[in-house]
Amino acid sequence: MLTFEHDYTTLPEPLWVACDPAGVATPALLAFNAPLARRLGADAMPDDATLAAWFSGNTPPPGARPVALGYAGHQFGNFVPQLGDGRALLLGEVVDAQGQRFDIQLKGSGRTPFSRGGDGRSPLGPVLREYLVSEFMAAMGVPTTRALAAVASGERVARQLPEPGAVFTRVASSHVRVGTFQFAARHGEQTTRALADYVIARHYPEARKQDDPYLALLTGVTRRQAELVARWMSLGFIHGVMNTDNTSISGETIDYGPCAFMEQFDPRKVFSSIDEGGRYAFGNQPAVAQWNLARFAETLLPLMNVQGEEGVELAVEVIRGFESHFEQTRQALRREKLGLEEAAGEQADTLMEALEALMHQGRMDMTATFDALTLYAGTFDERHREALLALTETPAALGEWLEQWREAALLQDADRVATMRRANPVAIPRNHRVKEVIDAAYEGDFAPFHALLAVISAPFDDTEEARWLAAPATQSEQVLRTFC
Ligand code: AMP
Ligand code: MG
Ligand code: MG
Repeated sequence: MLTFEHDYTTLPEPLWVACDPAGVATPALLAFNAPLARRLGADAMPDDATLAAWFSGNTPPPGARPVALGYAGHQFGNFVPQLGDGRALLLGEVVDAQGQRFDIQLKGSGRTPFSRGGDGRSPLGPVLREYLVSEFMAAMGVPTTRALAAVASGERVARQLPEPGAVFTRVASSHVRVGTFQFAARHGEQTTRALADYVIARHYPEARKQDDPYLALLTGVTRRQAELVARWMSLGFIHGVMNTDNTSISGETIDYGPCAFMEQFDPRKVFSSIDEGGRYAFGNQPAVAQWNLARFAETLLPLMNVQGEEGVELAVEVIRGFESHFEQTRQALRREKLGLEEAAGEQADTLMEALEALMHQGRMDMTATFDALTLYAGTFDERHREALLALTETPAALGEWLEQWREAALLQDADRVATMRRANPVAIPRNHRVKEVIDAAYEGDFAPFHALLAVISAPFDDTEEARWLAAPATQSEQVLRTFC
């Protein structure tokens, strides 16, 4: 059983508004993350029917007190003063054995006071995608919200075509977003201060001891966002909707909509059907995160010790610090991906920039490239070299790069392979596989979903099934566009 607390509701309204879930016709449990539930302190869980009733919102779990959270946000650069949880409800928080507090949130549980024109519902497809991708990110050590449950609603939701509905239960360090601060700022300095103090206590307690806790908060969020985006980039992850309302203050990946993993390496790559201008293209993600942090800083300026021009300059300097944090994390990840010694940071940058150019020119699949390099690093034999060279349209150039890499400061054998494997997964939730899983689920077959979930939850395991599910899409399988 989960023990709910309600810390967030000590904050003033309208940062939250009480709201009951609408309920669904016939809830059926599709997936439940028992290991995660145990981590959250649930020693015994009830049967599937009860779980389905709880996590559809039909009968919220004992102790839950559902609220919708208010937030604003810049969507594709345009400010919307009131967004908020239009289809989500916070049931409460749970504190784990380490004392860390987590939000438990239903998504797709019906209309709320923030629904605007929306129906408050989620189709099954996005629920399954979020389940898979967020669990993969967690397995890779990327800060992320987690999947606790997926429940079919037994109802149809009206989209371009009617689709089966579902309710997703998400676990997050919190759901406070840059957009929450933008919303608070519109309700006055007192609301912003209350929110900032809350966030400092929950996520950045060290900031409280600093001369200017609010500037220190900006510093902490900047650092975590820089580290997060560097991790995304190392896996070819494209978030797809990096609006300020989808930018978490705790530094977790949040709101998996039309997200996708890049296959052929290309910094300009975009999948999302709603990102016509390519604002959230792969290579733009660090700059966008910085832009979002600037919007966050604007909400904190009135709270800072130093006001006026000087205060702005201080904040700008902190946000510029994004670049060095980003580069530091990126360099460490590059070293791991390439199996280089700790001292070989600059070499990692040079080699990786060259390899990225080669992956781009040679139309190489990013995940397959690093996987093949990891296999080659274990043997240095001809068979694995050939397999790697077979991935590129420009094998001669890659061959030369491989010579340079072998002369670099590589880690010793066992260390090298273990380090590289941890950074270079065998399996990722490839876009075409996620699509296949969703198509099968729409036909009532959930076996492919569970098979893919098992593989991407252990993304370093080199099994036959993993290799089969992880193979790049063929021409006809390729997913070119993703949808929310
Ligand atoms: P997203 O694009 O998922 O980040 O959502 C942007 C905003 O639209 C948030 O305020 C959501 O709560 C709201 N929203 C998205 N889908 C729905 C829906 N089906 N019903 C009501 N609100 C929604
Ligand atoms: Mg969102
Ligand atoms: Mg969304």
